[in-house]
Amino acid sequence: MTRRKLAAGNWKMNGLKAALAEAKTLAAEHPAPNCDVLLCPPATLVAAMAAALEGTAVKTGGQDCHAAASGAHTGDVSAEMLADAGAAAVIVGHSERRADHGEDDAAVAAKAMAAWRAGLVAVICVGETEAQRDAGETLTVIGDQIAGSIPPGATAENTVVAYEPVWAIGAGRTPTLPQIAEVHDFMRDELVKKMAEAAEGVRLLYGGSVKPGNAAEIFAVSNVDGGLVGGASLKAADFGGIVAAAGA
Ligand code: PEP
Repeated sequence: MTRRKLAAGNWKMNGLKAALAEAKTLAAEHPAPNCDVLLCPPATLVAAMAAALEGTAVKTGGQDCHAAASGAHTGDVSAEMLADAGAAAVIVGHSERRADHGEDDAAVAAKAMAAWRAGLVAVICVGETEAQRDAGETLTVIGDQIAGSIPPGATAENTVVAYEPVWAIGAGRTPTLPQIAEVHDFMRDELVKKMAEAAEGVRLLYGGSVKPGNAAEIFAVSNVDGGLVGGASLKAADFGGIVAAAGA
C-alpha cells in the first residue's frame, strides 16, 4: 500500500516570535505537493504559527498535551487548547517527555486519547535507549511501548507512530538502514496484530538525527513513511531539504 509521506518538525524548547519567519519561508520556498508537512513549535508559538501558515500546506502541531481537557493543572496545555490555537496534531510520548517528566506508557496512551478527543492527530513516539539496544532488547522495548502507548481506537487517520531511538536523538548518528528496517517492519507487524488491516495505513516515522543529507536514504527504507525531525527542522533551508526528500 502507498502511504503519503509526512515530514514533521519538532522545534522542542526553541524559537521566539522571530523564528516564525522560518516557518513562513518553509511554506513559501519549499512547496511539497507530494507529502504532508507538520511543524511543532513550543506551545507559546502554536497560535501564531497556525495563523502565519494559514492557507499554506504546512500544518502546525503541539509537542505535548495534558490528558484532561481543562482543570487545575498549572503550566499544562490541553489538546483542546492546542486545537483551539490552530493545531492539527500533537506529539505525545517523546523520549524527552518520558525521561524529563516520568511519562510512562499509560500516561502517553491517555494523552493520545486526549488528542483524538480534541480532533488532533496523535504522533506517538517510541524508542529504545542505547543500553537497551546493547542488551538486545530493542524489539521487546518497542513492542511493549506500542502495546502500552497506543490505545484502542487508533486509526490511520488519527495516529502516526514515530520510532526514535533515544541514542540517535540530537546525537549526529543514526541506526544503520537495516536496523531501521528491522524496527519499522516489526512495528508494522505489531500494529497489524493490534488494528488488523487499518494498520497498513498508519504512517511510521523515523526520528533521530535526520538531516538533508541522509533523509532520502532513510525515507526509502521499508515501512518508513517520513521523519520526525528535531534540530534540522529549525531552519527552513535544512528542513526544506528533508521535505523535498519526503515528497520525492
Ligand atoms: C527529536 O527529538 O524528535 C529528534 C528527532 O531530534 P533530532 O532530529 O535533533 O535528532
